[in-house]
Amino acid sequence: MEIFLTMRKRAEFPNQMSVTPEDMPMDVVLRALDVVAESKTPQVLFKGNEPLLHPDLEMIVKGCQKRGVIPVFETSGLMPTAAKKMVLEQSFRLIWRLYRPNFYSPENLAEMRENLDAFMKAGNLVRLCIMVDDPDADYEFVREYLDQYKFDSVNFWVSCLTPQDKIGHAMEFYTKLTRDYLMKKVHPLLTCGIMPCAMTDAQFGMLAKIGNHFGHCTPHLGVLPDGRVCHCQEMAMLPGPNLSMFRTERELQKFYYDVFRELQWTMDVCPQCKDCISMVGGVCTGLSMAQKAHAMLADFDKFKQRLETEHGELSDDERTELLWQMTKVCLILALYSDAIECLEELRRQHPEDPNPHFHLGVCYWELGRLADGEDEFRKCARLSGNPLIALGELHRRLVQNGNTIRARLLQAEIEKEAVKLQQKIDENQPKA
Ligand code: SF4
Repeated sequence: MEIFLTMRKRAEFPNQMSVTPEDMPMDVVLRALDVVAESKTPQVLFKGNEPLLHPDLEMIVKGCQKRGVIPVFETSGLMPTAAKKMVLEQSFRLIWRLYRPNFYSPENLAEMRENLDAFMKAGNLVRLCIMVDDPDADYEFVREYLDQYKFDSVNFWVSCLTPQDKIGHAMEFYTKLTRDYLMKKVHPLLTCGIMPCAMTDAQFGMLAKIGNHFGHCTPHLGVLPDGRVCHCQEMAMLPGPNLSMFRTERELQKFYYDVFRELQWTMDVCPQCKDCISMVGGVCTGLSMAQKAHAMLADFDKFKQRLETEHGELSDDERTELLWQMTKVCLILALYSDAIECLEELRRQHPEDPNPHFHLGVCYWELGRLADGEDEFRKCARLSGNPLIALGELHRRLVQNGNTIRARLLQAEIEKEAVKLQQKIDENQPKA
């Protein structure tokens, strides 16, 4: 699990976050650590801009110790003396975000190098993360670090929001770097965000030959300072429910696999993926979830703007079509409140259409309005030619929610409806 501890900074670096509150309150930190402690491998990655700048660092470390959680801290290498002392004394593991030298002032660069020397000498496990903020820039400087220090592992990070056709230059460097350091037993690894199409066939083949992988897009399970969960840093704009909804990391992971299952397979926003041989070969499932989510949000804004600006000029059908397009985006991105706004309007326009009722049932249920949700599923069942779909969905949700008695009663209702439906079908069959 990744905990975004604080938005505090020591310097301006690329891809820093800006969310509120600035520091994660202690009760949220401890709640998150409780969840981590339930895992088989209780390890937590403290992220945020500079997690070692959190004012309650000492209490956080004690919270980890008490729960047997292993902390790993991300750092740009700049930190207060007290934090440095703590990292040295307690042999904390670190992820060292190495930016291009122009992002450090001469004093900061000297401090970063001095700290790195100190941790390496003390034997802290340090994972190097080469921050590729601009794929066209020169990253030769990292060789100096790889030659001088022995890192626990080396990652090559490219934001998963970078268009794949812009990564070519960085991939060229990465492939060469990987090859050059292979004999020295250094294996730079790709983090998520680089798909097979970012590489030439020769690069992909060479990397496969030496056992290197590209990074699949999987939920990183982040906790934002306000206690809400997120899929990963690049998807922090789509925060999920509060962490208190989950007891274990496994539950949180299941939530993200379930809620974004459809996003994973949405190809409307990346038509190039449909005929891609990596897709056909089952190697890749398309662009990162974050790229898809950002593209879908942009679509949503376009639809909304059209609805607002062309309000009087749109025909009923055009308006309905736009509302359904917006609903589709909201359902895929789990923006249930926005989906409800669209669906209530659709219900008002087409009260006899069962579809808005079905989706309203889903959205109300997801937001904890179970009675409203049930009401809508039942309305959908009454209005549609086949009531079994809506009732079946309601049944599935009752079971999932632990309402077994009501689910059993509903089961009997479904069986009666199934008999009625079969009779209707039989009556409509042409007589032999
Ligand atoms: S499926 Fe899409 S993202 Fe994956 S390799 Fe093909 S084109 Fe690239």
